[in-house]
Amino acid sequence: MTKKTPEEVRNDRENGRVVIKWDDGSGRSYPYDDLRNACPCAGCRGHAPGEVEPPNVSGVTLTQIAEVGTYALRFDFSDGHNTGIYTWTYLEEIGQPLIA
Ligand SMILES: [Zn+2]
Repeated sequence: MTKKTPEEVRNDRENGRVVIKWDDGSGRSYPYDDLRNACPCAGCRGHAPGEVEPPNVSGVTLTQIAEVGTYALRFDFSDGHNTGIYTWTYLEEIGQPLIA
């Protein structure tokens, strides 16, 4: 199985979401709140299941998107949180199919 990689990562401020176009032609959309609440960092997820309450924020916006190596993205959210590393694999799992 070949791994998908993004061809385009777009901060769609108008609709409050990130849009990723993958190299297989598919697209996924990531509303800011969903993205923030899916943060995979240890502070949001804990080191063991049930260790911490998962985040449940609403109304955040995205201030910056940074690439981490060639395998992931890091998002700077307006609530000051930016420690989550979102790998391509993880992003494929959490996104919503993009209706073109
Ligand atoms: Zn986090």
